[in-house]
Amino acid sequence: MSGAYDLDRQGLAELLADQPSYRVAQVWRGLYRGLRRPGEMTDLPPGLRDRLEEALPPALSQLGSSVADGGDTRKWLWALADGARVETVLMHYRDRSTACVSSQAGCAMDCSFCATGQSGFSRQLSSGEIVEQVVAASRESREAGRRLTNVVFMGMGEPLANYDRVWSAVTRIHGELGLSARHLTISTVGIAPGVRRLAGEALPVNLAVSLHAASDELRDRLVPINRRYPLGTLLSACRHYLAAKGRRLSFEWALIDGVNDTADDADALAGIARQLGAHVNLIPLNPTPGYPRIGSPPSVVSSFAGRLRATGVNVTLRRNRGTDIDAACGQLASRVASGRAGPDQLAPDPTAPGRAGPGPTAG
Ligand code: SAH
Repeated sequence: MSGAYDLDRQGLAELLADQPSYRVAQVWRGLYRGLRRPGEMTDLPPGLRDRLEEALPPALSQLGSSVADGGDTRKWLWALADGARVETVLMHYRDRSTACVSSQAGCAMDCSFCATGQSGFSRQLSSGEIVEQVVAASRESREAGRRLTNVVFMGMGEPLANYDRVWSAVTRIHGELGLSARHLTISTVGIAPGVRRLAGEALPVNLAVSLHAASDELRDRLVPINRRYPLGTLLSACRHYLAAKGRRLSFEWALIDGVNDTADDADALAGIARQLGAHVNLIPLNPTPGYPRIGSPPSVVSSFAGRLRATGVNVTLRRNRGTDIDAACGQLASRVASGRAGPDQLAPDPTAPGRAGPGPTAG
């Protein structure tokens, strides 16, 4: 909890109590506009720089990083101060650059097809640990001559099961890192009370709901939290969100071969999506070690999409970014931590400074 991005301005002011008062704004600007580690703030006196670097160590130290899609997708594996591990993915598109961030180390939701779920829950991330992932992605984007425009909470973890810290990260990402609320997306497995709470927040972020099934019978099996918040409860929370925020809702649907990809499934989904004016994101399941199913074949994906479109539903087919580096949706599971693969599975990054030194990547 002691990372630079966990500190609020008051906390920073206390740390700088012996300094001229303009230092607070200067360091804050260095952190959030300059995206710099205290050790890199060359406009500070060297003694202060060293003291701050020591008082505010990076929350994330890079254990590995890998690239795919011709450099357009990058994944980081981070160790947190206590050794917990999380991953972040940065994706460059023609018109935007999106960071996919983790909100928890592991996940307790236990969705059968998700690699993170299969590896279990370790702990909640602090808001600073979340913000620092965005800072790292933002630095990387800047170095590539791009600007980070979007953040999606679709990495490891269930954001609405870590509500307060996630929301405090959202306000920091919006207010201090300057990303528009319209470009921030919270993706939830369907924690209905959390969706209702979001509806009461001032910032209108996008809401994505990982639906995957349009009947309780199937959803209970794919997404166990459905037993606690069944479809009726979830969808009425979504309706409440829409009424309060007027933001577009989207449903995520991983197409699983022979499980949720029939014409009947498409029709049931279409019914729900039309009622809520929701957009549907289809993605063929990325196979994971603990789930003996594959993604629907391309012909099934396109007829499923076609059936939705025929009834007027807005559909996007998600490209599988980063599949070859296990950076694709649902594949983030810190394989190094789980012992299923060695660290050499991630290409070592020669610029990685580790925890020891102030370096360009950790902050
Ligand atoms: N817990 C949140 C966010 C993390 S998962 C949520 O459930 O929304 C981000 C998205 O990836 C979710 O839509 C999730 O259902 C999906 N996903 C998980 N495992 C997947 C897999 N193996 N293939 C494709 N999508 C997957």
